[in-house]
Amino acid sequence: MKGVTPVKLIRIPKADKHKIICMNPDFSKYTDGLMPVIIQDSISNKVLMLGFMNEESLAKTNTDGKVTFFSRSKQRLWTKGETSNNFLLVKEIIVDCDNDTLLIKASPTGPVCHTGADTCFNENNSSFSLEKLEGIIADRKNNPSASSYTSSLFAKGINKIAQKVGEEAVELVIESKDDNKEKFLSEAADLLYHYLVLLQAKNYKLQDVINVLAQRHK
Ligand SMILES: [Zn+2]
Repeated sequence: MKGVTPVKLIRIPKADKHKIICMNPDFSKYTDGLMPVIIQDSISNKVLMLGFMNEESLAKTNTDGKVTFFSRSKQRLWTKGETSNNFLLVKEIIVDCDNDTLLIKASPTGPVCHTGADTCFNENNSSFSLEKLEGIIADRKNNPSASSYTSSLFAKGINKIAQKVGEEAVELVIESKDDNKEKFLSEAADLLYHYLVLLQAKNYKLQDVINVLAQRHK
């Protein structure tokens, strides 16, 4: 059996900067020096596009925090979004087991494809998910806005957030005794939302809870 390449984790200390997991991408494996790069949405996990990078474009991507490819048609470095303003903001760079393919997890600032589609595979990337909600909640915490209810919860602190979770749980209990579908689902949504806020306030992710459940399921 082939040995697994040990992966070295380098965390960049700046709080909101992307992290690199790698890395010795081996560009010499390609005669033209161009390595395939899979771009994946860091929140939805949808595959957004495939591009190519040479060493220089990877270095620029890492420095700028925006994805820069080597365009085979233009034969030059091409920062995605340089004309459309639809950039790919880098969250994580990972090299594969053979050091010859890159996976970049990124946050797109607009539609990714030149056709205007969300992804180059014409998939819808705007669908709502708990992961997406969790990402929005994290953003409201890290970049507070005066008009955001979520930001105001974080500003009030952990006691208030925990209290809200308790209140919403009680409201759900009360609704569960009645037969009003709309009110029951609304209270269930309120509880789930405040639960995610509480996890975020404690610096945990939903995945941490899922890991505990998975462990129990074994
Ligand atoms: Zn495309």
